[in-house]
Amino acid sequence: MKIRAVKHNNRKKTFEVRTSTKALVLPFSQADPKPTAVDPVRVSVVDEEAGREAFTYVLDSGRTGTVHVEQVLEYNQDPRHLRDLLLYRLTIEAQKRASASPLSKREISRRLGTSAAQLYRLLDQTNYRKSIDQLLALLQVLNCDVDLVVQSHVHEDHVAGLGAFPHARVTAHAADLPGLHHIDGLLAIYGYEDAALLERLRGWVETQFHYTPRPDAEPYVDGAVFDLGGVRLRAIHLPGHTRGHCALLAEPEGVLFLGDIDLTGFGPYYGDAWSDLADFERSLARVRAIEARVWVSFHHAGVIEDRPTFEAKLARFAARIGEREAALLAFLDAPRTLAELVTHRFLYPPHAALDFVDAAETRTIRQHLARLVADGRAEACGDSMWRRR
Ligand SMILES: [Zn+2]
Repeated sequence: MKIRAVKHNNRKKTFEVRTSTKALVLPFSQADPKPTAVDPVRVSVVDEEAGREAFTYVLDSGRTGTVHVEQVLEYNQDPRHLRDLLLYRLTIEAQKRASASPLSKREISRRLGTSAAQLYRLLDQTNYRKSIDQLLALLQVLNCDVDLVVQSHVHEDHVAGLGAFPHARVTAHAADLPGLHHIDGLLAIYGYEDAALLERLRGWVETQFHYTPRPDAEPYVDGAVFDLGGVRLRAIHLPGHTRGHCALLAEPEGVLFLGDIDLTGFGPYYGDAWSDLADFERSLARVRAIEARVWVSFHHAGVIEDRPTFEAKLARFAARIGEREAALLAFLDAPRTLAELVTHRFLYPPHAALDFVDAAETRTIRQHLARLVADGRAEACGDSMWRRR
């Protein structure tokens, strides 16, 4: 790849490199010799002798350095550096807003509940050790609001923060949208047969998850692209967990937000009326084929930075479906009623005490039973009972 142009910025302590397709940043800290406040960059030029695949710079002291485009690309793609880059960009935004803000530095520190020294650390773009959380809080104080929320799907634990962004545009896949518009829509997504349970869940979602209806929420469809300025977010419809469940791919970085294909030891959840086992299985195959470099799981499995680890975790996650089915089949060695199967538990551990566990078990078991009967591995017998064939 060839470099079109290079600029140095001694104030921001960065080189800004343009190629035919990208605008990239390389902090001075990555260059050797390293430009400093006392020995800043005087000149930086694209290196014609290197076929425009590098740039050269000269410091005040006369020392020179060369940086190859590969080094810049690598810095801009490595996940560890992505975090640093994001921190850097947010810091520059915070600096701009802090200098334009009518609030004094002292008032900003006060609202953040931090010291002046800590505020200066937050505003220092060369400090990569500060927390992104604190920086986001600072941006909030400086009136930098969230303006778009793209939902992976609509479940109580994924909309709990919406009330904090009353002015943001909110969007979800069209199939999950009713759950954002009204709490009745969310209850329909669960769709449990027990009406009293649904009423209890209504209260639980309102008080524990601060459900805030967004009748203005807008639909998106499979393949929708959100241009966030330098980053595009692409929605990839992967139903099964809910009808509208999507993964979100940040491009060009290749960061895939997996939604509730969450790679936990619990395994796939398809226990709601709007969940579907067969759809979930198709989505598991499809998510594996998506080109990505970093996988961000929701819930506990964290961020994964290499494909072999992702594929191993995905295989382990997907295997839970077969394990549940095998356990169910083994338990059908004698005729069982649905109530007996639900009490035995194939989804949740025996000690799980959440109100909806029996309902989710019921929906999960029904789907496996239907498949086992269709495949001729189990059969209905007697009065609403099933057994292995
Ligand atoms: Zn969910």
